[in-house]
Amino acid sequence: MAIPETSSPRQATFDEAAKRRVRVLLPLPLAGPYDYLAAENLHLRPGDFVEAPLGKRSVIGVVWDDAEDRQTPELTRERLRDVESRLDTPPLATPIRRFVDWVASYTLTPPGAVLRMTMSVSAALEPPRPIFACRATPAAPDPGASGDRKLTAARRRVLRALEGGPPRLPAELAREAGVGGAVVRGMLDLGWLELVGTKRAPPPTPDGGRVGPTLSADQRRAADSLVDALASGFAVTLLDGVTGAGKTEVYFEAIAAAVRAGKQALILLPEIALSAQWLKRFAERFGAAPAEWHSELPTSARRNTWRAVAAGEARVLVGARSALFLPFPELGLIVVDEEHESAFKQEDGVVYHARDMAVVRARLTGIPIVLVSATPSLETTVNVDQGRYRALHLPDRHGVASLPQIEAIDLRRTPPPRRAWLAPPLRDALGAALEAGEQAMLFLNRRGYAPLTLCRACGHRLQCPSCTAWLVEHRLAGRLQCHHCGYASSLPRECPACGAEERFAACGPGVERVAEEATALFPAARIEIITSDTIGGPATASAFVERMEAREIDLLIGTQIVAKGHHFPALTLVGVVDADLGLAGGDLRAGERTYQLLHQVAGRAGRAERPGRALLQTHMPEHPVMQALVSGDRARFLATETAARRRGGWPPFGRLVAIVVSGADEAEVDRIARRLGKSRPHGGDLQVLGPAPAPLAILRGRHRRRLLLKAARDVQVQPIVRDWLAGVDPPSSVRLQVDIDPYSFV
Ligand code: ADP
Ligand code: ZN
Repeated sequence: MAIPETSSPRQATFDEAAKRRVRVLLPLPLAGPYDYLAAENLHLRPGDFVEAPLGKRSVIGVVWDDAEDRQTPELTRERLRDVESRLDTPPLATPIRRFVDWVASYTLTPPGAVLRMTMSVSAALEPPRPIFACRATPAAPDPGASGDRKLTAARRRVLRALEGGPPRLPAELAREAGVGGAVVRGMLDLGWLELVGTKRAPPPTPDGGRVGPTLSADQRRAADSLVDALASGFAVTLLDGVTGAGKTEVYFEAIAAAVRAGKQALILLPEIALSAQWLKRFAERFGAAPAEWHSELPTSARRNTWRAVAAGEARVLVGARSALFLPFPELGLIVVDEEHESAFKQEDGVVYHARDMAVVRARLTGIPIVLVSATPSLETTVNVDQGRYRALHLPDRHGVASLPQIEAIDLRRTPPPRRAWLAPPLRDALGAALEAGEQAMLFLNRRGYAPLTLCRACGHRLQCPSCTAWLVEHRLAGRLQCHHCGYASSLPRECPACGAEERFAACGPGVERVAEEATALFPAARIEIITSDTIGGPATASAFVERMEAREIDLLIGTQIVAKGHHFPALTLVGVVDADLGLAGGDLRAGERTYQLLHQVAGRAGRAERPGRALLQTHMPEHPVMQALVSGDRARFLATETAARRRGGWPPFGRLVAIVVSGADEAEVDRIARRLGKSRPHGGDLQVLGPAPAPLAILRGRHRRRLLLKAARDVQVQPIVRDWLAGVDPPSSVRLQVDIDPYSFV
C-alpha cells in the first residue's frame, strides 16, 4: 500500500529541511492516512483541508493526527510527496476527526470512506464561485413615473422591489416581484438594472429568544430538565411520551436554549416525508427556517448548507441520518426524533445506525443528546433500565386530546366478503366516521395493487428476472415492479410458463386494491393513496399535508409513510388492514417493530378535540403484540420482549455481526462462504450461524449467502471479525459486506 509514483530522491536542500512530515486522510477507501511533506510556512495543523497528490491526480484531504497504530507503512522521507496547498475551508474540529476514526473502527470501514461522508459535497470545498446580484442604475425611471411606455407594470414591480433594499439575485428578484426571469433579463439589457458581485447571504438565524406556547406542568418539567442538561456535558436523555404529548414542543425549548447559548443544534428525523409539517412548525416557533440536509436536495443547496454549517452560520440543522457527519464546529445539542425508527440504519456503503452513532458523536463532543419516541426501542429502554440513559416521561396527550381506543377485529370471526379486504366492523366504522364529516385512514404497508400475480391455468408466479422476489402489480402505473431492484415490465398477455392467454390473477391486497374496494363502498368520499410512489420528495409531501389539513381528503390510504409524525386534528379513525403483516418472517425484532409501527399508526387518530379510534384487522388477536396494543400495556410487552432477548442472548444483551457474501457466480460465492464457515472464530462466548442462502438469495442478479456471528455483550467483536475476514481472500468478483449490529436479515 505504498503511495504510487513518488518522485526520484531529491537532495536535501535548505528548503527540504524546512518541511515536515504530515499525515493526510484522503476521502477514499484506503487503509489509513498517507504521509506527505508540507512546507513549514503552510502552518498545517490537524483538521486543515489540503490538496495533495495521489498518483497523477490531486485529491482534497484532511490533515490527520499522529497516531501510534498506523495502518500504512512508514515511507522514507525521500519518497514522500509534497502537500500542494491548504484550502480556505474552516478546519475539521477535533471531535469530528475522533468521530470519523471511531465510526471507521466500529463499523470496520476504512476511515477515508467515513471521511467521505463528512466531505459529502466535494463542490463545497472548491472556492465559492462569485455570484452576481441586480441593482437599479441611474438610467432606470422612477417606478412611480407615468408616461414611459417602456415602464410596464411588471418592470414597475421589479423597481419597487429593489427600492431601499439590497441588491438581489436575479431569480430572487423575479420571485419577489412576481415576474418571470425574462422581465429581469430585459431590464438588464435596457440598462435599467446592472449586476454587481456579491456574497451569499448567511442563512437566517432561528430566534432562540422567542417565547413558545405555554407548557403544561409535565411539559415544563421535561423542558427545564433538557435545558439544564445543556450545561453539563455528555448525557443521553430519553424523552418518552405518548403520541401527541407535545414532545416536539418540549425539545424545541432545548433547541431555543442551545441557540441562545451560541451553540449549533442538530435534529435527526428518520424520513424526509415527515419533515414538511415539522419544518412549518419550526419556522412558526423560531421565525426562521432551519437548515435542511438530505439526499433529495440539489447539490447546489447542499454545497451552500455544508459551507454554512462549517462556518458556523447555520445554527440549527434538521436532516436525515447523513447529517450526522456534517462538520459542525460548535455543536451543542443533538436530538434524534422517532429514535426507534429502523430508517436510521444505513444499509449500504458505510453500514451504521445513525441513532447509535449520534450518541457516540455527542459523547466525543461532550454534549447532551435527546432521544425522542412514543415507542422507544428496546435498546434504549434497556439503557434506561440499566441507568446509562435517563428518561423523561410525558404520560398524557396535550390539552383535551385523549389517546385513541384500540380494538382488534378478529378476521376469523368477522371475515371480509369474498375478494375483499375490509371486514364488516371496519366498514361500519369507516361509514360512520365519513358520515360524521371526520377524516379516516386505512393503513397497509404494501405498495401497489397486488403483491403477487399468478397464472390461473398453471399456477406460475411472475417473478423478477434478477431477484428472488415476486413482481408487484402497480395497476395505476400499468406495470409490474420488483421492489428490490426497480425492475419493471408491463403485464404480459401470455403466461411465460404455459402460454395461456389473459389468465393472470392478482393475489392479496396492496394499497391500490384497498382503495378500489373503498371507492366502491364510499363513492362520494374523496380518497387518496399516499405511498413513496406518490410522495416523491419534500414538495409533494408538504402539498399532501396541506390537502389533508384543508380537509380535501376524506379517506387516506397509505403505507408507513403516513404512519408517523403527522398531526391531523380531524382524523379520528384509523383502520389497519393487515395487522399481522410485519410478524410474518419473524426476525429478531418483528414483534417490537410491529408494536411500534401499529402504535404510531393508531396514534394518528384523535389528536385534537374529537376522540380517536383504531381498529386492527388480525387473524391472531391473542398474539402478545395485539394484546399489548389493545390493553395499552406497553410496560408488560417490553418486559416480556426484554426477558426473551436476555434468555436468548440476543441484542441488546448480546452482539451480532452479519456477513453477506455476494457475487454473480454462485459457485464462487458458495466457495467463499464455505471457506468463511470453516475458518469461523471459536470461543466459549462466540457462535457462528451459517453460511446459509439469504432470504433474498438472489438480488440484482447477485447470489447471496449469509453468516451471523453471535457473541456475548462484553466481547469486542471488531478485531475478531477483522482477523476472520483477513484469512479469506475473496476474488474481486465476490463481495463481503459486514454489518455490525444488523437490523435487516434479508
Ligand atoms: P408529539 O411530538 O409528542 O407527538 P406534538 O409536539 O406534535 O406531540 O404536539 C401535538 C400537538 O399539540 C401539536 O399540534 C402541538 O403544537 C400541540 N401542543 C403540544 N403542547 C402544546 C402546548 N403546551 N401549547 C399549545 N399547543 C401544544
Ligand atoms: Zn428485482
